[in-house]
Amino acid sequence: MINAPDTPDAFEIFPWNRNFETGIQEIDEQHKVLVNILNRLAWHFASDSSELSADHVLDELLSYAAFHFQFEEKIWNKALGEDGMARNHHDAHQMFFVQIHELRKSGEPQEDILTNLFDFLTRWLAFHILESDRRMALTARMVEKGYALNEARDRVDSELSGSVSVLVNALLEIYGKLSASTIQLMREKMARHRAEDDLQRLQNERLSQALEEQAGEYQQHLESLAYNDALTGLRNRNGIIRQIRDCMAEEERADNSAALVSIDLDHFIDLNACLGEDAADRLLGLLARRWLDAIPADACLARIGGDEFALLLPDASQAESRLEALRLTARQPFELDGAEVSVTFTAGVVLFPDQAVQDADILLRQANNTLYRAKHEMHGGWLYLDAGEQNQYHARQLLLDDIRRGLSYEEFRLFYQPKVNLRTGEVLGAEALIRWQHPQKGLLSPIHFLPGIEHHALNVQVGEWVLRESLQQMQRWDKQGVELNVSVNVSAFQLQSGDFPERLKHILSEFPQIDPARLDLEILETAALGELDRAVQTINECRELGVRFSLDDFGTGYSSLSYLKRLPVDTLKVDREFVSGADGSRENLSILRGIVGLSGVFGKQIIAEGVETIRQGQILLSLGCEQAQGYAMSPPVEPDRLPEWITNWKTFPEWQEYDGS
Ligand code: C2E
Ligand code: CA
Ligand code: CA
Repeated sequence: MINAPDTPDAFEIFPWNRNFETGIQEIDEQHKVLVNILNRLAWHFASDSSELSADHVLDELLSYAAFHFQFEEKIWNKALGEDGMARNHHDAHQMFFVQIHELRKSGEPQEDILTNLFDFLTRWLAFHILESDRRMALTARMVEKGYALNEARDRVDSELSGSVSVLVNALLEIYGKLSASTIQLMREKMARHRAEDDLQRLQNERLSQALEEQAGEYQQHLESLAYNDALTGLRNRNGIIRQIRDCMAEEERADNSAALVSIDLDHFIDLNACLGEDAADRLLGLLARRWLDAIPADACLARIGGDEFALLLPDASQAESRLEALRLTARQPFELDGAEVSVTFTAGVVLFPDQAVQDADILLRQANNTLYRAKHEMHGGWLYLDAGEQNQYHARQLLLDDIRRGLSYEEFRLFYQPKVNLRTGEVLGAEALIRWQHPQKGLLSPIHFLPGIEHHALNVQVGEWVLRESLQQMQRWDKQGVELNVSVNVSAFQLQSGDFPERLKHILSEFPQIDPARLDLEILETAALGELDRAVQTINECRELGVRFSLDDFGTGYSSLSYLKRLPVDTLKVDREFVSGADGSRENLSILRGIVGLSGVFGKQIIAEGVETIRQGQILLSLGCEQAQGYAMSPPVEPDRLPEWITNWKTFPEWQEYDGS
């Protein structure tokens, strides 16, 4: 009568429990029928596809009960006579019929009836079968052994007292746990459907004045159900769709001024499997809270389902910085049952309003498509679909293709800018800076192409090319008798790409003649900001290979001092912003002094970049910073020209005067 599940054994939420056994085989077999019905109900709640008619289940239960109760009562009566105990038991059976009939007459929706039935049956199983039936069976057996009825009853009483209630409670608790999640899920689903229906009705009908007064409160409640996600408290799909519509409808709004981002967590299935569903759910809740703190007040963050989120930013110009903020906050480890977990995501971004797309649903789908395209290219990054004229997405695709082409045609070049000791004139090394000798556009500086691949796999590819090329160049110079240390810029993305130390090791092994200690990796503070422990670990693994680290653009990040102190870098590289400002106002000078002073506190070396004038060099020397790089000495030059520069280079007399005292 009931559609059996496709795989009936696969969903035994209530396995037959030996404690159910009465010792009377026929009765046990019949009880198993009931357990089976319960399992089918559970299956129904858990699977979307199962069709179950409440009427049919109730029918089946009635005919089952009519047969089973009669069978059972015959046995009890035979053993115990028409005793009060048997009569009570009979009454309990009658209550079963009453309950089933009441459910049937209730006129409630199917799913409600099934839920209530489910509830009732679990309790029936625990209390009636476990308690009452077993008591009857035990008493009957004692009587068979020759005990008087009263004595049999007392003995059974003392045997069962305590132990049974413990069993019943334990079983109910287990059942409760097993079923709670499926039932809860279903209840929420129903409540939402109902709320949506009701809301529709409310909006359509315009109820009478009296009703209207109540409606405000009621509507709020309904809205919260209809538009919010119960797990995270964020908006749900409906919620953000409504917000997008509002945003689209704003009259003053310029094309492409808002952004919609579709976000999908990477490898959440694995997390789910290893953490368990409860912890994974908690993780989603914690992530949601962090993200809410990281978005502006006028933005809207929604959980669309599972591990998918959507973010509406009324100000599209914030998309990059906010996504970066989400990325960083997600990377900070979450404490879950003693485990530390961090999360990465992939995202697709569409800008709107756009003449071509006037529908919020379609826009969300576009964002989603863009997300899947991003996923296809790589995890942990994001892609734009520019719905507007400029079509950034298209432009970016072109750029990506062009860079791939450029890599294969060997169009990239490294220029090198010397690092010197201002006072002694010693050449300490050189920083490799990438250029693109583009066939049509000429020599391109990195700002023209690096930002476009900041979160893309190509970033790593380009980065590895730079590492190889620098090491190769060191070899070439070595052969000419010019032994130089080289600094290479490593992007946050490359550093965090997971197997960076492994890959670096591999690259270094291709150049056995080069001592890794001659290679210095310049990283940005923000590269380490995401997840300090992990960054520290990555850096340390690389340092074990022998390479050194500098913190680039020092002073422009937002790290706390204690944070910086833990970063295992050798050198701090003062950003040129502070150097260029130093010969202006007193205030700038004191900032520079502070920064230089910090290096002493941390016990790190310090180097200044962007030294353009003799005066700036003097100031640095007066503050105790001797190492520097900048146009005053040399711009970045082609590698072939560097040996010649070294031969001719002499430091300025104004700088030589500083004797370090
Ligand atoms: P950066 O690491 O801060 O590099 C220094 C930049 O300042 C270079 O610009 C350099 O040409 C410029 N510069 C040097 N001396 C002076 C000076 O005295 N005054 C002024 N105003 N500027 C000076 P460039 O080569 O255009 O590089 C810009 C940025 O691009 C670099 O900033 C770095 O963050 C990034 N970059 C360059 N090459 C690579 C690379 O191979 N990999 C990665 N990941 N990033 C790179
Ligand atoms: Ca640098
Ligand atoms: Ca810099």
